[in-house]
Amino acid sequence: MSKLNNKVAVVTGGSSGIGLAAAKRFVEEGAYVFIMGRRADELAKAKAVIGKNVTTVQGDVAKLEDLDRLYAAVKAEKGALDIVVASAGFVERMAGEQVTPEHFDKTFGTNARGAYFTVQKAVPLMRKGGSIVLVSSALHLKGLPEHGTYAATKAALRSFVRTWAAELKDRGIRVNNLSPGAIDTPIIAGQFKTAGEADAAKAFFASITPLGRIGQSDEMAKAILFLASDDSSYSTGIDLVADGGITQL
Ligand code: NAD
Repeated sequence: MSKLNNKVAVVTGGSSGIGLAAAKRFVEEGAYVFIMGRRADELAKAKAVIGKNVTTVQGDVAKLEDLDRLYAAVKAEKGALDIVVASAGFVERMAGEQVTPEHFDKTFGTNARGAYFTVQKAVPLMRKGGSIVLVSSALHLKGLPEHGTYAATKAALRSFVRTWAAELKDRGIRVNNLSPGAIDTPIIAGQFKTAGEADAAKAFFASITPLGRIGQSDEMAKAILFLASDDSSYSTGIDLVADGGITQL
């Protein structure tokens, strides 16, 4: 039996990487998905990959008016919402001594503030039995050089989840965090100037991961499906760490 029959889902950052893999799995499990991303060409490609039961909304999670447009589209087309996955995010590597106020605000504006308002603006549309998943990072548990602002935004998500879970429990909505380790998506290459540097970074992450490899987007999609579906019906406020053991062993 499909796990998400007749469910309506929003996935931000749904045109690439973990978000795209989750959106695809959701549709395979019977859901209708709305994916939001900034680039029209990437959204069109993602729509073709997902194949059916998908609406694309072009927008930036750092802009609250774009989030309003996203949820206006959900309301107009489907009337209500069951699942929200906040996967939009980015990394700009920068040593602490080099961090500028602009870098700080951009990182927090997208990764933390963007995810926060993605949830806040979804809540009025959400039905009882709903599930919200924030895509954080195992880095919120680590002190990796050049990732100070990024890791702190992801620690903020882990904290947001606890409070949202408490605030929404009486409405029958669960809220959980996913903390991926190093996953093979475009976000890694985006941090380096050359493909060679990106490959070296992937090899480095594999070498420090107890399972001996970096993860795949679909492995995160399966974890997100668990949190989004009734399979996790007794979990709220948790941090599901899916990191090949990097923070645990
Ligand atoms: P990705 O780059 O493939 O996907 C991220 C998506 O978010 C992209 O489509 C990007 O365009 C979108 N995005 C970025 N800023 C946005 C904005 N302001 N508004 C709307 N969309 C925006 O990378 P991914 O690995 O799939 O990343 C998904 C999430 O997983 C991110 O939040 C990331 O921090 C987190 N994460 C990734 C890894 C990893 O190693 N890949 C590890 C831990 C956590």
